[in-house]
Amino acid sequence: MNLAALPRYPAYVYDLRGLADHVRGVRAALGPTELFYAAKANPDAEILRTLAPHVDGFEVSSGGELAHVRATLPNARLAFGGPGKTDDELAAALNAKVERVHVESPRELARLAALGPAEVLLRANLPIAVPGAVLAMSGPFGMDEDALNECARLISDMPDITLRGIHTHLASGLDASAMLDLASRITSWALPWLRARGVPEPEINLGGGMAVDYTGGTRFDWTAYGQGLADIGSGATLRVEPGRSITAYHGRYVTDVLDVKTTRGETYVILRGGTHHLRTPAAKGHNQPFEVLTSSVAPIHRATLVGQLCTPKDVLARDIPVPPLAPGDVIAFTMAGAYAWNISHHDFLMHPPPTFHYLR
Ligand SMILES: *Cc1c(COP(=O)(O)O)cnc(C)c1O
Repeated sequence: MNLAALPRYPAYVYDLRGLADHVRGVRAALGPTELFYAAKANPDAEILRTLAPHVDGFEVSSGGELAHVRATLPNARLAFGGPGKTDDELAAALNAKVERVHVESPRELARLAALGPAEVLLRANLPIAVPGAVLAMSGPFGMDEDALNECARLISDMPDITLRGIHTHLASGLDASAMLDLASRITSWALPWLRARGVPEPEINLGGGMAVDYTGGTRFDWTAYGQGLADIGSGATLRVEPGRSITAYHGRYVTDVLDVKTTRGETYVILRGGTHHLRTPAAKGHNQPFEVLTSSVAPIHRATLVGQLCTPKDVLARDIPVPPLAPGDVIAFTMAGAYAWNISHHDFLMHPPPTFHYLR
């Protein structure tokens, strides 16, 4: 597929073969640690089908994700998480035979118990400082020690609820050594807590959040992480549920230049599409990495790459070096495989949606 000559732009191009190679490597590096994919990073059905042979299961965080992933992969192992689950969603999860429900509060636990048998992990919000995290997932997520203890007490009177372990997702954007440090602090709290409550074969879900460096630095070291977890994990089944670090590298948003102009000394390259298709740079506050597919000339000046939206926030990359560009040139934004199309406000300004292509 010649991405510089697609019949229509913008286009999302997913490299399914590269994705399969990547996830195969992650799976191998993790050894006995289970790998679930967090569907919210990118729930595209082709991506889910590509990942399915290489992951142990999928984490879904809404009734919508649950229905979509179950319809796409009827036999996949599923874990159902997320704050604010409704009774309908909990019932749908049991009906769809999810393997684990990640419980977020004592009240949610009571509502679940009223619906039928379920095997649960309790989501813990632990007071662990996470230096270097891009996003600390504390606040409303999970439960403190008091609420966890209350859940354990409630479960001892709930014949339909089986406590299997602890779920966490405490931070994102950490490298392997910071993730291992976090994992060892989580397990050294969770294992004795679970043992004291008589949980046989305890499970600890360490969450996702493995770092992705959009400036092109080193990738998350899955080999070091897998080896470290093997040392930490004796006595429990460990599970991780990354999203971004699995799919980010294997999507591109490809589009063409509509106009180039210099206004008050600043050069703007106006592209077909924009952040309503690729919100990642706006959401993360970064410059989306890109390649100019129609030029091999070295960058000669600086420009800001913007889209078609009538807002100054529609910036894909700000004040970055570019080669000479003219209408018709084609630019591929890379690292657009996670939290990209599916987190974008597609309907704003009613421009046509991108086309989707899959490299197999
Ligand atoms: C978002 C999320 C993940 C995935 O996080 P990444 O940063 O994409 O790896 C995993 N678990 C939970 C509970 C989440 O909310």
